[in-house]
Amino acid sequence: MAKIYYDKDADLKLLKDKKVAIIGYGSQGHAHALNLKDSGIDVVIGLYKGSRSWDRAERDGFTVKEVDEAVSESNVISMLIPDIVQPAVFYREIKNNLKEGDMLLFAHGFNIHYNQIIPPSYVDVTMVAPKSPGHLVRRMYEEGKGVPALVAVHSDYTGKALDYALAYAKGIGCTRAGVIETTFKEETETDLFGEQVDLCGGVAELIKATFETLVEAGYQPEVAYFEALHELKLIVDLIYEGGIYAMWYSVSDTAKYGGMTRGKRIINESVRQEMRKILKEIQTGEFAREWILENQAARPVFNKLLEMEKNHPIEKVGKELRKMMPWLRGIEVE
Ligand code: NDP
Ligand code: MG
Ligand code: MG
Repeated sequence: MAKIYYDKDADLKLLKDKKVAIIGYGSQGHAHALNLKDSGIDVVIGLYKGSRSWDRAERDGFTVKEVDEAVSESNVISMLIPDIVQPAVFYREIKNNLKEGDMLLFAHGFNIHYNQIIPPSYVDVTMVAPKSPGHLVRRMYEEGKGVPALVAVHSDYTGKALDYALAYAKGIGCTRAGVIETTFKEETETDLFGEQVDLCGGVAELIKATFETLVEAGYQPEVAYFEALHELKLIVDLIYEGGIYAMWYSVSDTAKYGGMTRGKRIINESVRQEMRKILKEIQTGEFAREWILENQAARPVFNKLLEMEKNHPIEKVGKELRKMMPWLRGIEVE
């Protein structure tokens, strides 16, 4: 069973005489910064000149400095800028400003696990990865609650790296919910696998394949949209709140029988075989290399695929049909 830490296992006092630099003021950055401040921790924000977030951080009451300066005056450096820009910022502005015994903290393991960032030996390297988007990290904290997180130690220079990481997790409210111990390897590989085969890649393809099969067979796209996409939310909400069995419990017996007998023909042995192959590409670093090179080449494949997604027929139907649903927030993406 996983080891889980709670409030009683973490000591906020460990951060009381320290300063925390939050690098980046986006989804995670703003939430960590505000929660730490409300927990009584001294926080400075590190950004670049001209950053769109600079004013927002100042309006929220923070001192904002350029990254190198923020790092120089801090003991804990929390890397909350996009993963793909982290290595350049690290080597240009962070590495030479780290002092012996500082803690470099991540919210995702990609750059450490795939050696895109190799920190000096004289700092602690840890991870506190909330299992939720930043706005929920903030909202739960304000309500006196917290979101679960993962914690990991990559380098333990001080011999107290885990204690410092847990203190940080407490400062952002996560030990109120529970913090699960993991490794950089486990967090990185499972995160990539989940988003590729299930959460983002798998679900998007399942929706499109369902939609396309119905439309190809002559059914109206509007009707296909409801079956393939719209109703998925009701199902996912049930699974999210109560587990898969709660979903089976709630749907009709016809849906139960059809789903339980046909579902296994869709996610069949050959699909599972492909999942294992994708996991191997993650474990060997093949996927990481591909994505890093893709970025160095200015994203030719990424941009093409995104354009194709944007122009998929289901997007056109969806745009019209969602106008019939006044309760939707109507997220417009350009
Ligand atoms: P965001 O994309 O929201 O972070 C953007 C912030 O970084 C902005 O303030 C942006 O400034 C700033 N920034 C961009 N480039 C630079 C730069 N060169 N120098 C300084 N600041 C810069 O990041 P997330 O919060 O999504 O992700 C941060 C980390 O958290 C990642 O490691 C991610 O994997 C992890 N994580 C994210 C989760 C999420 O829900 N989003 C969940 C769990 C972990 P500007 O406003 O000017 O663009
Ligand atoms: Mg991810
Ligand atoms: Mg139905």
